[in-house]
Amino acid sequence: MRRDLPQLADRQFDVLVVGGGVQGATIAWDASLRGLSVALVDQSDFGSGTSANSLRIVHGGLRYLSRADFPRMRESIRERSALLRIAPDLVEPLPVLIPTSGNSPLQSRFAFALALAANDLVSWNRNRGIEAHRHLPRSRLVSRAECLRQFPWFAGVRLAGGAIWYDARLRQPHRLTLSFVCSASRQGAVPANYVRVDGLLTGKAGVEGAAVTDIIGGKAFEIRARALVVAAGPWTTGVIASTLGQGQPKVGPTKAFALNLVLGRRLSEVAVGVQSQRPAGRAPGSGGNRFLFIHPQARSTLLGTWYSVSETEGVSGLCTRGAHELLDEVNAACHGLSLTAADIVRYQWGWLPLKAGREAGSPLELAERPFIVDHGSGNGIRHLFSVEGVKYTTARAVAERVVDQVARDLGAGAAACRTAETRLVESKAALDLHSDGTMNRATILRAIREEMALKLSDIVLRRYDGGVLPALPRRLVAEVAEVAGSELGWTAQQQLSEIEEVLRQANSVPTVMEPTG
Ligand SMILES: Cc1cc2nc3c(=O)[nH]c(=O)nc-3n(C[C@H](O)[C@H](O)[C@H](O)COP(=O)(O)OP(=O)(O)OC[C@H]3O[C@@H](n4cnc5c(N)ncnc54)[C@H](O)[C@@H]3O)c2cc1C
Repeated sequence: MRRDLPQLADRQFDVLVVGGGVQGATIAWDASLRGLSVALVDQSDFGSGTSANSLRIVHGGLRYLSRADFPRMRESIRERSALLRIAPDLVEPLPVLIPTSGNSPLQSRFAFALALAANDLVSWNRNRGIEAHRHLPRSRLVSRAECLRQFPWFAGVRLAGGAIWYDARLRQPHRLTLSFVCSASRQGAVPANYVRVDGLLTGKAGVEGAAVTDIIGGKAFEIRARALVVAAGPWTTGVIASTLGQGQPKVGPTKAFALNLVLGRRLSEVAVGVQSQRPAGRAPGSGGNRFLFIHPQARSTLLGTWYSVSETEGVSGLCTRGAHELLDEVNAACHGLSLTAADIVRYQWGWLPLKAGREAGSPLELAERPFIVDHGSGNGIRHLFSVEGVKYTTARAVAERVVDQVARDLGAGAAACRTAETRLVESKAALDLHSDGTMNRATILRAIREEMALKLSDIVLRRYDGGVLPALPRRLVAEVAEVAGSELGWTAQQQLSEIEEVLRQANSVPTVMEPTG
């Protein structure tokens, strides 16, 4: 996969996708698999926005059971199966343990036995097309002793036992996003990172493409396309408003700040759901018996998710307050765990859409449905679409709906979507770190030559999984910089500033990813 800007500038595409997070990447893959010619651009690296910061859980929608929302539960189960099928190296079964207790009938073993049986029934075909050794087993109740063996810190609560069900986990979300991009590229799509969309090109027929800037070379150019899809995550509203030259209408908050913590040690073998003891708050999903998840990684633990709808605090303040509250909530539910700020090695955060009047329910609740807009309906600009998804898990299904609309709009016939069955180009295994913590020279070169890594952070944080290491030593980063620098022709000064940039991104609270709209 090569970054070929002249090709982007020279031809007319059927569709230009703006945003190379998981949503834009799945759209590009689906559209190219259906025979459309596709251009895909991202102002930063692929998968470096919200998609890099998920808790890495592919949810099967167990929580929808309590409201008997079976259509949404079925959708999540279908999408979990699809990801397990199409990306076997990057998505794998994940056991999740939660305690049962005598505190309330809703947390009793009987209540969980019913819920798990219903879950197994609704997900009866969850293993279709998946190799036997990767099947999701049936859910089960476990004894008090077994629960404590898996997670000793439940000892202090009135513990009756535990319930275990199976979801899936994203081993490396950034690599999965990249796999969608690489697969689209193999199918003929032309992707480019570090290309920012600045404005729309419009004519009598509607949208005709976009004016863009190559962030690396600094040159402005145009990309021509018959349709354009903005899939820019939290930036979508802003991109649409600014490209149309509109101000941004705003009534109340439209996005929630969402935070996970990376802890520098593994707390368990299985993922663990911990029920918050705090009363329900104003922020979406805060307190009120919601579940926080402890998700073990190879050498660290992800803990999340904390939300805020504060419009006045900056990212740094939100991270500090969120970390404090998350640790408090987990410590209150897990006696003796006693996590402190010293356990935190990194913050992962992003912005998620709120219902904000676009969906039934409180405007301050997290959006549950994707927001897909055909801006050509009414008297708007024809052939312009935008989409804001709500979960990594369901991005493929959302892409299918978007591409159905785009294909209809272009009169491109009704080629069926094949992304739920077609295996992706994957390359997780080769890019794992060596056991001594070093990175392999050949794979660094491959990241640059075949996976469009342009900056040191692309290699260390997104082609490798450096973002969840307990520590990212300067020595390791400098070794990679040495190889990358000679391949990419960096000066000594450039090499140094690339190293500083990676260490800043990996080891401190970031302050740059502000969305608009
Ligand atoms: C803390 C947290 C935990 C989460 N946990 C989970 C989980 O466990 N499971 C799950 O299923 N989901 C989870 N999610 C939700 C999931 O991560 C998001 O729904 C999903 O990643 C959104 O993807 P996206 O492609 O829409 O947005 P993004 O990944 O943000 O992609 C948008 C892209 O658009 C690009 N862009 C913006 N403006 C422009 C422009 N002008 N020109 C070109 N490119 C542009 C950006 O650079 C960015 O790469 C979590 C989210 C957060 C924040």
